[in-house]
Amino acid sequence: MSNNKVEFISVVVPVYNEEGCLEELIRRSLAALEKTERRYELILIDDGSRDRSPEIMTAASEANPDKVISCFLNRNYGQHSAIMAGFSLVRGDLIITIDADLQNPPEEFGRLVEAAEQGNDVVGTIRQNRKDSILRTLPSKVVNKAAQAATGVKMHDYGCMLRAYRRHVVEAMKQCHERSTFIPVLGNSFARNTCEIPVGHSERAAGESKYSFWKLINLQFNLLTCMTTFPLRILTYFGILSGLAGFLLSLYIIIRRFVMENGDAWGAFGVFTLFAVLFIFVGIQMFGIGLIGEYIGRIYTDVRARPAFFIDRVLGRKDQ
Ligand code: UDP
Ligand code: MG
Repeated sequence: MSNNKVEFISVVVPVYNEEGCLEELIRRSLAALEKTERRYELILIDDGSRDRSPEIMTAASEANPDKVISCFLNRNYGQHSAIMAGFSLVRGDLIITIDADLQNPPEEFGRLVEAAEQGNDVVGTIRQNRKDSILRTLPSKVVNKAAQAATGVKMHDYGCMLRAYRRHVVEAMKQCHERSTFIPVLGNSFARNTCEIPVGHSERAAGESKYSFWKLINLQFNLLTCMTTFPLRILTYFGILSGLAGFLLSLYIIIRRFVMENGDAWGAFGVFTLFAVLFIFVGIQMFGIGLIGEYIGRIYTDVRARPAFFIDRVLGRKDQ
């Protein structure tokens, strides 16, 4: 499969107040890229940093013309938007994303390229002995399960940003204009073949996590809503369940009332009947809200206006 060869690698790094790690990241990334013996570029996206990161980036670009590309956003947009900005600049045929904090080693670039050349559009990674607190690992476990169910793509670790995407997958992602997005899930939804390789994981090299608790929760919601509108449907299901329970309860009460002796007292003189009626009405209400949710879900899908398909290639036409 010779056409799978990667000629040009673009590495995209979002940078937000990373002055402590940035120099080492640039040095190690360039060394790792040099080792792959392909053309390459290292694209640094400054996501509105307030420390010395922009200066470090500028210096690196001046020292490595056409190899280190620096891009400055006018304010802080968030990690995934910064990566999207990086995607708009890439020239390579394989795009690798990595965090600036050196939790994942740039030395793995070579293995990502190898895996991509084996015919994978997306190469994911699994963090070996993850060095994060339970506050980070637990939510990501739950979300991974949800992501697997929603996308049907079995990937173990959506949270890990060290990933490689073929150019056509990135082009597809660029066509998605939604604002709250989660790159790994989006990437997977446009991939034919994916694989995962294990990579090392270590503590943050310097500085602290840019995700506060609330930002993290927001991120998890982004992840959920970017792949499915299922949560909107949950109410409908609850409504159906509640209505059904109410209906069965009333049936039971009626039977007891007429068939059994002393049925009136058993039903607590109408209290249970009230419950049955309540269940039915609550059910109808929830069903109604869920139905509205269905419409909202469809509006949401349409507003996102993701392209419905992407043609990989067309064969057998004369004018090509
Ligand atoms: N980041 C960013 N904008 C933000 C927050 C983070 O560009 O608003 C970058 C950050 O510089 C780093 C990456 O996203 O390169 C991941 O951030 P961090 O390591 O803090 O996240 P964690 O590892 O805690 O998930
Ligand atoms: Mg990190």
